[in-house]
Amino acid sequence: MNYSNNTYAALFNSQKDNQFQVGNSKYKVRIQKLKALKLALEKTYRYDIIEALHKDFKKPKVETDLTEIYLVVKEIKHTISNLKSWLKHQRVETPIALFGTSSYIKYEPKGVCLIISPWNYPVNLTFGPLVSAIAAGNTVILKPSEMTPNTSAVMAKIVNNVFDRNEVALVEGEVEVSQELLKLPFNHIFFTGSPTVGKIVMSAAAKHLSSVTLELGGKSPTIIHESATINAAIKNIVWGKFLNNGQTCIAPDYVLIHESIKNEFINAFTLKVSEYYSENPKASESYSRVVNKKHFERLVSYIEDAKSKNATIELGGDYDVTSNYIAPTLISDIPDDALLFEEEIFGPILPIKTYTSVDAVVNYINSKEKPLALYVYAKRENFIKYLINNTRAGSTCVNSNALQYSNHHLPFGGSNNSGIGKAHGFFGFQEFSNARSVLKRHLPGPFYLLFPPYTKYKEKIAKATIKWF
Ligand code: NAD
Repeated sequence: MNYSNNTYAALFNSQKDNQFQVGNSKYKVRIQKLKALKLALEKTYRYDIIEALHKDFKKPKVETDLTEIYLVVKEIKHTISNLKSWLKHQRVETPIALFGTSSYIKYEPKGVCLIISPWNYPVNLTFGPLVSAIAAGNTVILKPSEMTPNTSAVMAKIVNNVFDRNEVALVEGEVEVSQELLKLPFNHIFFTGSPTVGKIVMSAAAKHLSSVTLELGGKSPTIIHESATINAAIKNIVWGKFLNNGQTCIAPDYVLIHESIKNEFINAFTLKVSEYYSENPKASESYSRVVNKKHFERLVSYIEDAKSKNATIELGGDYDVTSNYIAPTLISDIPDDALLFEEEIFGPILPIKTYTSVDAVVNYINSKEKPLALYVYAKRENFIKYLINNTRAGSTCVNSNALQYSNHHLPFGGSNNSGIGKAHGFFGFQEFSNARSVLKRHLPGPFYLLFPPYTKYKEKIAKATIKWF
């Protein structure tokens, strides 16, 4: 549904008025809502979603099933199985000095929440956080990206059919719509997108001291040690890189490979690309497209910039402007000041850089912003441990990539430039909740002995308290 500017406040206020009704709902009521969303995704709208994503950027059906529908359905199932225990008051211990009291943590909803999502996994990154927000008992306004309009239209239908708009509403529209929404005093804003827009969101949130979750992006390195099994590594890397046409926040952004295995890597990579996407990836139904002209031109400028700096195109490098097609591309011999090493790539281009010492790897990674994901391929445990201990990243996969996202027992999110806060499972539920502390007095305890007037005797008790309790 589209709203004019002055109705955003009305929508916000209707959700604000409804927040205690929703927030005090029993877990069974929340589970009913999640089940209704699950049914819509799995059955009623599954084909509409598949068709819309194909129209938006030729996303293959299997990828839509696995990375959009399945991941949200799995999040819902995990939440349904655990919600009762997440909502239970969490009893905590009582220190001796507080004898006569008991304490617990109550996870209460934050209130009215805003979820702003990107275009690259529009269903997953809009409805995934929504599952956590509903579980925690919030009302929610969703603002999906304007870049995947067909998918946004289907999501709007789903939301209108499954929810009352004073509990969950979806607002379609351009960036200006997000800007208007960001003026409202939301209790929590969950944003997924680029670090640049993340900063805009955080400064808008600061005006109302709204809490934020920022799921951002950046350059995720893949490090390949000479002890790695190249064929096994390639299987994962080619899939992880070209899934969604490289438009994945946790895709391997660049490869750091030991000099001695560079040629073996390039040969195996080339073979695997033709195995997955045929000799002519343009005709492959398994290979999607860059989302629009703006991103296409951005990516082409990276290729041309690398070429102008004498980089070697090891594979691909060709493109077709009429269909936003860029071939699966592997580039080496790139100088550090090339755009491919300065900007997040977010497309089907993989730059590789060789190294000879682990210190050089660590120094290079630490000279950049903290990545959202860091991948290591190696058999040597010491190398893996050294890398994990001497770098910082939101998440790490060893001898694989992207799979850390799909384990809902793990928190998902970045650190500083790659994000603030965590999503998925209990971590997502926590993000949309306020951990309210409640202390209850049952008996008059020793603490009364410390109330004024502060006599010499009380001074002694205070000293003893510091020493013994
Ligand atoms: P983006 O930051 O351009 O846009 C994200 C959302 O913000 C969209 O809904 C858009 O309408 C809105 N927006 C854009 N400009 C705005 C402004 N000035 N004010 C208010 N709202 C604005 O990101 P994108 O291009 O949609 O997605 C790509 C980025 O998202 C990449 O950096 C990628 O790494 C990151 N990403 C991160 C994750 C994660 O889970 N950490 C997942 C997917 C994508």
